[in-house]
Amino acid sequence: MSRKIYKDITELIEKRRTQGLIKEERIITSPQGTEIEVGSRKNVLNFCANNYLGLSNHPDVRQAAKDTIDSRGYGLSSVRFICGTQDIHKELETKVSEFLGTDDTILYAACYDANAGIFEPFLDSDSAIIADQLNHASIISGVRLCKAKRYIYSHNQVGTGTYNFDGKDLPGLEAVLASDEVQNCKYRMVTTDGVFSMNGDIAPLGRIVELCDKYDAILMVDDSHATGYIGATGRGTHEHFEVMGRVDLITTTFGKALGGASGGCTSGRQELIDWLRQMSRPYLFSNTVAPTVVGATLKVLDMLTESTSLRDRVHENAKYFRSRIKEAGFTTLNGNTAIVAIMFGEYENDAVLAQKFANDLLEHGVYAIGFFFPVVALGQSRIRVQLSAAHTRDQLDRAIAAFIAVGRMNGIIS
Ligand SMILES: *Cc1c(COP(=O)(O)O)cnc(C)c1O
Repeated sequence: MSRKIYKDITELIEKRRTQGLIKEERIITSPQGTEIEVGSRKNVLNFCANNYLGLSNHPDVRQAAKDTIDSRGYGLSSVRFICGTQDIHKELETKVSEFLGTDDTILYAACYDANAGIFEPFLDSDSAIIADQLNHASIISGVRLCKAKRYIYSHNQVGTGTYNFDGKDLPGLEAVLASDEVQNCKYRMVTTDGVFSMNGDIAPLGRIVELCDKYDAILMVDDSHATGYIGATGRGTHEHFEVMGRVDLITTTFGKALGGASGGCTSGRQELIDWLRQMSRPYLFSNTVAPTVVGATLKVLDMLTESTSLRDRVHENAKYFRSRIKEAGFTTLNGNTAIVAIMFGEYENDAVLAQKFANDLLEHGVYAIGFFFPVVALGQSRIRVQLSAAHTRDQLDRAIAAFIAVGRMNGIIS
């Protein structure tokens, strides 16, 4: 068979390859953890998992998953509203609501689906969505599925002016909210990541909450990179800024800090969750969350409610790593999350350099990933390091030594 598109796509991929912009996947042959097997390499130090609390292969979490298979089976072969709701699904919705301090929660197969199904049920062409410039791709997908008017504000800028970020002039959040155009809409929804995964910075949620109250806007926060470890007891960005109970809708994932398998949810005001259960398409027309995932996530939430020790440890580890990497002379973005972005934008061919750096790191036994266009803006290539509560001080020191060796090898630090 020959179709025009086959040939065109082959050319597109080849073009990307010559530009050094093709993403390759490495094959892991062990469970997820701080030391993993990557192909034939054993004992590779892993610094690129969203395994913030070290729960991806925790014995208690594994046991909870096994127990749930025995008590509730493997799959439900149904969406929720036909025959896909077990007692444990309702239990998890209640427990997530307690953990996040919300009225109610609805589960989705993934946070991607939660975001894909959150806008359209509430907003039509007479309403407005106001989004941070760096929002996650899944939020953007959700926005695209809805007819509301779209407005973008400059990353984390909440003021009334215009701001220059990445060479673009964009208004601040208040400038958008206060405009006649937006005030004349039926509803307004502000949407932001809580923690931005590529930068490791936090949305100024205290101020955003105030503005949403002032301008009668619904606030939706995607806390996928925050739930479990940001805030005094790990409840998320709203706890960090002491605005629990003042965010209308929170979406988050069970596929990161909370055990890392899959699954997500939307949590928030009762009226809004009730409506999502009736109208949200990824909820209505996609399979229920697997019982194993539900049972293990219940266990994780119990563990995190009993003790903040994992949350405390990941913050200690991140602080230590960030300060040592800065001391060594690397350019990092500021932040107090478990994500440390080491930037290569000041060098020529930054995309190629970021990838070479990652490959050299792997030669030194450290696994971290270079991110480049289109995942981040052109000229903003970086290595993103993610810390885990499960990293030992020895593992951190070995990784820092590898970064310094590779940094010197590539002429990035002296
Ligand atoms: C990872 C991530 C998602 C997707 O979560 P899944 O449950 O894997 O679909 C959504 N939003 C943000 C901000 C994320 O970082």
